[in-house]
Amino acid sequence: MYLRPATLTEALSARAEHPGALVLAGATAATPALATGGRPPAALLDLAGVRDVAALDEAAGRIRLGPLVTAERLAAQPTLGPDRLPLRGFATPAVRARATALGNLFQRPHDLAAPLAALAGEVEVAHADGARRTVDVPALVTVPGRLAEAAELAVALTVAVPHRFAYARVAVRPAAAPTLAAVAVALLDDGPRVYIVTVTAPVPARRAAAERLLLDAGAGEEFAAAAAAGLPADAPAGQADPAYLATAVRALARRCHRRCHGRPDHD
Ligand SMILES: Cc1cc2nc3c(=O)[nH]c(=O)nc-3n(C[C@H](O)[C@H](O)[C@H](O)COP(=O)(O)OP(=O)(O)OC[C@H]3O[C@@H](n4cnc5c(N)ncnc54)[C@H](O)[C@@H]3O)c2cc1C
Repeated sequence: MYLRPATLTEALSARAEHPGALVLAGATAATPALATGGRPPAALLDLAGVRDVAALDEAAGRIRLGPLVTAERLAAQPTLGPDRLPLRGFATPAVRARATALGNLFQRPHDLAAPLAALAGEVEVAHADGARRTVDVPALVTVPGRLAEAAELAVALTVAVPHRFAYARVAVRPAAAPTLAAVAVALLDDGPRVYIVTVTAPVPARRAAAERLLLDAGAGEEFAAAAAAGLPADAPAGQADPAYLATAVRALARRCHRRCHGRPDHD
């Protein structure tokens, strides 16, 4: 069954009536999964026809994205700062034109999770009965934290407008390859935020010790060490080498620290 609601209320009702339905936003992750995955879903719930869910607004220091706002559109938002949100290496141009920022958080890889966590990203979740709740990005991408109720939909993503923001990642290939390690930092009204992810620990982890050093322009090395502290020292056979990941996180952290202080990547 293919469901194409025209309003958010209809979409929430359809979600409640068809708990086994697979939600489609840009469908760039869901379609390949349908083609290769096991049992097909009982129904497809396509949000593409829903009015007013492609809006991106900015008010009171936060940017609010509807569920059809693409990652590319968020990345172009000038208030994110001089680097904006670099999407070099994220998917392919054709996929980027459809891939939504919210849809990214419901599957793996979820390359946007670290930068959205640094920007204090929060997902607004609605239930067919009218109830709403807010989930922060790291909690959402933790698998048991995903939408607990089959009758829920993510209806918006909000992020803070940063004073400074920097994001750097390394992947196995320049394009359409999952992240091996990434660092995202932001200076927000309520202070600095630093998040890291690695291929072996893909839920964004906050680094409080590094946050204290982000404000100090001369503390790049200490910042990098604090960002990489606590990474697993061992990895099961066949997974990325922990020493390599720690080196990568330190290098990416150094780069983010420099960018935050308005300095180029290299002297
Ligand atoms: C060639 C190719 C390259 C790719 N490269 C990358 C990459 O480099 N990095 C990366 O992170 N991803 C990559 N992806 C995956 C994908 O394109 C992105 O994750 C994209 O952001 C997903 O957004 P979407 O709108 O297409 O999600 P969809 O495919 O529509 O949905 C993805 C999941 O989210 C759920 N969902 C979507 N919206 C909602 C909602 N509002 N409420 C509840 N559930 C919802 C869906 O049910 C589904 O389970 C790639 C995909 C392809 C095909």
